[in-house]
Amino acid sequence: MRDLKTLARYPFLSEAKEYVKTLNVSVDELLLDLTYEKARIFGVERVENAVQKKNVGERRLLSEADYLAEILSYPVARMIVVCVDDAYFLRKYALGESVHAYLNLRNESADFLAAVGGDIGLSVKVDGDRLYVHFIDYIRYAPTRYRDWKMVNRPLKNGYIVVSRRDFARLLQECLRRRIVEELEERSCSETVQDAFPEELGRFRNMAAMQRKRFEAQPVGRISVTKLPPCMKDILASMQAGENIPHMGRFAFVAFLNALGVNSGEILKLFSTAPDYDEERTRYQVEHVTGRISSTKYAPPGCEKMRTYGLCPRDKMDDICKRVKNPVVYYRLKSKEMRKK
Ligand code: SF4
Repeated sequence: MRDLKTLARYPFLSEAKEYVKTLNVSVDELLLDLTYEKARIFGVERVENAVQKKNVGERRLLSEADYLAEILSYPVARMIVVCVDDAYFLRKYALGESVHAYLNLRNESADFLAAVGGDIGLSVKVDGDRLYVHFIDYIRYAPTRYRDWKMVNRPLKNGYIVVSRRDFARLLQECLRRRIVEELEERSCSETVQDAFPEELGRFRNMAAMQRKRFEAQPVGRISVTKLPPCMKDILASMQAGENIPHMGRFAFVAFLNALGVNSGEILKLFSTAPDYDEERTRYQVEHVTGRISSTKYAPPGCEKMRTYGLCPRDKMDDICKRVKNPVVYYRLKSKEMRKK
């Protein structure tokens, strides 16, 4: 087993989970017993830092007891986030955990990174200081909207792409972020957590409600958020939560806003919340889609194409969705209906 210091740094690893199991600590003990108070304090701090600073942050760990508290703070933080019960809040937390992991992983050896990758489900091989990731995982987790990350700029050998340690750490960040979101979306809140953190939960729910309100009230240029179709609302929500949006999602969103008359500057402002926002590159991409620096002004993709790319949230489709073939038409129709009302 890895040492406690390493498990405290990467508490999402299976080994950390196994270690926690060997402690035989029940959920009630973890949440209520005085022995685990430090773990609870650290857990609350993780959540707070993730939501406010986009990074769960470092704590001062001086002894074995501190390492243990740090390891246990991870399940505590997750239980709290589940009970806040807010999709946007959950995404912020997942981002905070994954960004923190990335900052540490950048300094790890290739062997260690490959082991972490294997542990969280990436298909990876290691040869000396080089890492080889399967191209399917690469496509899934790489920020391919950036030129350096495009598949054509990466050597491919027998289905694997060579990546540096730093780039592999970036892939791990995205893989971990999605995994946390998926895992916690499945969980439900336990009453013990409600009883253990009444004040903290109240505070976090208020924060989530305020963020939601800001998001709902925030117009995008002349565009009203309340009239957006579910697909665009989802993309915007992910963007404002600081998530990475797949290339097609970004393209669809820019082309949609452009078709409705939002200018490049306003679109750029929206993208500036992305975790690895690069103004120059984003400006180039936005201006390319909107036709400012290219001979083509791209039309926004229709609903069928959105579905093909997995960008149409079928469970959120409403009556207007059933009558339209393009998200832009949805927006216009909804505006008309709201005016009538
Ligand atoms: S049906 Fe069209 S407008 Fe509605 S969510 Fe899907 S892609 Fe968007």
